[in-house]
Amino acid sequence: MKPIRPIRDGREVLWRITEADREKLLRLLFHRYPESEWGTFFRFGYRRTRWGILVTWVDSQKPETGDLDRHSPLVEFRPGYIRRALDSLEAHELGVGIIHSHPQDCAPFPSRSDDDMDSYFAEEFERFGNGRPYASFIVSRNSERKLSFTGRVFDRGEWIPVSECLVTGERCLREPARRTIWSAPESTGSAPNAPTQERVAQLLGADAPGRFRRSVTGIVGCSGTGSPAIHLLARAEIGELVIVDPGPFKASGHQRNHASRHSDLWADPPPSKVALAARLIGEINPATKVTAFVGDLLDEAVLDELLRCDLILGCTDSNYARAALGDIAAHYLVPVLDLAVQMRAEDGVLREQLAEIALYAPGLPCPWCRGRIEVNGIRYETATEAERQFRAEAAAAAEQRGVDGAQYWGGKPPPELTVGYLTTMVGAMGAGYAQNLLLGSAKLPHHRFQFDLGLSSLGVVADERPPRADCACQRTAGRSDQARADRSVSRPDHWPQPTRIPENPGPP
Ligand SMILES: [Zn+2]
Ligand SMILES: [Zn+2]
Repeated sequence: MKPIRPIRDGREVLWRITEADREKLLRLLFHRYPESEWGTFFRFGYRRTRWGILVTWVDSQKPETGDLDRHSPLVEFRPGYIRRALDSLEAHELGVGIIHSHPQDCAPFPSRSDDDMDSYFAEEFERFGNGRPYASFIVSRNSERKLSFTGRVFDRGEWIPVSECLVTGERCLREPARRTIWSAPESTGSAPNAPTQERVAQLLGADAPGRFRRSVTGIVGCSGTGSPAIHLLARAEIGELVIVDPGPFKASGHQRNHASRHSDLWADPPPSKVALAARLIGEINPATKVTAFVGDLLDEAVLDELLRCDLILGCTDSNYARAALGDIAAHYLVPVLDLAVQMRAEDGVLREQLAEIALYAPGLPCPWCRGRIEVNGIRYETATEAERQFRAEAAAAAEQRGVDGAQYWGGKPPPELTVGYLTTMVGAMGAGYAQNLLLGSAKLPHHRFQFDLGLSSLGVVADERPPRADCACQRTAGRSDQARADRSVSRPDHWPQPTRIPENPGPP
């Protein structure tokens, strides 16, 4: 059989798994260490993207007695086990793959017999799975317990290499796959630290800036909380920011927006908020790569880029976006830090200066579990102008007949009345928590908490309730595009297509 050579056309595979699943998996794979290998079939969700394929771990289909040969030091999948894995393709839409360990201090590169096994499985699983991709990963550990891995995915007749594994948990880990025999996993380009990073290196260790330079963070919403978060992450010299916002800059946002200048107030046409944010990032740290969309997270092209991120900051206070961010966290295993602010005054006296920070991640409650979504709000946000008009008229007519108009119409949401000190503070906290999750330097104090600047002890309230047992987020974790039917919200057809900048000219 001819050797397998992964194609190198720029496409790559990203493998995402939760920290809890990774722990379980490694215990299984290394339980015959140091001499002998072990392996398992596993199920994965997947998405074919513009950059390659995302593979999200669902669960292992663990070997039972007799499924693997215990007397052999190598992994050999017996026919009964293979049959069961192939049959399982009938029961779900997920992909099926294999993962096995190599003995201690043996590099995780496929052997001749691994190549033979993969060629056979790729063909069989593609056939029985009606064109689903097949994945094969190898892991090993050295005597210092340092992990390394390789992987490849067979899809539509071609092998695509796995480039990185992203681990979701109390910290975000990004582990590069081994490329060559000689590339040790720890030698992945740690450039010397610049003087600008002296303080963070002294505080958190010499390798902290390097790890931050390899991180990618998504920012959904580039206004009050988004723009200060972008500002600080650029100053911290993050590797890449994926920034998304559909809207133009408005003068009313100037006192909250960290990216706008006085001259932007009169620009005609007004610049997009992402163009302003991209300009700010370039001025502070041109080394931060910017992937920017005038668009929405419900756009598939935008979603592709968000799925490359270690972490997403939710900086938009809309119901549909919060629901979509909850879906992304559950289905695609990308953790989301959701930021929100609310202010209310009566007769010039502030009654509320409220901030909320919540983490959405597999195993934690989603925004639906937390009661954070108003369905009427989503209806309003995704409606056309004509629909909004029609519903408002229907509600008014109902009121005239003495019927409660709210049954037709949830009401126009109140305008967002927040000012810069509160939005900046919450955006800065979001950037700080993001940095700590990326570096593993601190955990969130609570998975969800609120506080009010005007209350004694800042009125901190934490919400540590578990997820709702009957919520969809509990059965869709890691199912990627195969959880499409369970998405809470879909992109309205009347929304404009996203535009990627800087293909577009930025603001002057
Ligand atoms: Zn092997
Ligand atoms: Zn839920």
